[in-house]
Amino acid sequence: MRGVEIVAIHNAPMDPGPPEALRILVVEDDRALRAVLVSATEAAGYEVVAVGDGLAAARELRARPYDVVLLDIGLPVVDGWHILGELEGRRIPSVIVISARGEERDKVRALDLGADDYLGKPFAFTELVARVQALARRAPAAPPVVTRGDLVVDRARRRATRSGRPVALTRKEFGVLEMLVAADGGVVSAEELLEHVWDANADPFSNTVSVTISRLRRKLGSPALVETVVGSGYRLCGQP
Ligand code: CA
Repeated sequence: MRGVEIVAIHNAPMDPGPPEALRILVVEDDRALRAVLVSATEAAGYEVVAVGDGLAAARELRARPYDVVLLDIGLPVVDGWHILGELEGRRIPSVIVISARGEERDKVRALDLGADDYLGKPFAFTELVARVQALARRAPAAPPVVTRGDLVVDRARRRATRSGRPVALTRKEFGVLEMLVAADGGVVSAEELLEHVWDANADPFSNTVSVTISRLRRKLGSPALVETVVGSGYRLCGQP
């Protein structure tokens, strides 16, 4: 069974898109609109994660780096204004506010709070994609390079090195490492990895996460960097 799954992982036509694909977070509580936003931006070649409320958005923005956020204002729990306030003053990610309100004062408020663009619903998806592309062209060319001890993770080039030695990682392995690094020693659960590194069709009962973790560990070499926290998940260890 295990062997079959490993073969499937190797053969799957995964890892689509260019390695420098921009990462987009879609924050929209309307399920149907969210689905369309995801397919429109994915079709344009971006890597997309979608959430349906403000708390999930805040958590997501803390967990991983994003280039562009498509942010609805009317959201359950924590609204878009709050998220915008949290992001205020940050150069990354760029924010496009999408709002049903469509009133001039909302637009002014959004831009005042640091949004890069504003789209009133309803809008054409071609226009949305055009605006994302405009922001993407403007996006800084040097996203953060993260260092943890002898490990260096270059998010822009999707490369990792350990003690200066390049570590060749697949897209999934890199995604897992990136999340562990972003958690900064905190525990990341298998469910979180599955949700963010794999696509929505990943089987939550497969051992694909643990298989990827073992390959990542092997490639990173010793001393061991990825620790299993029984019953909780994984974390980066031993890094000053
Ligand atoms: Ca809404």
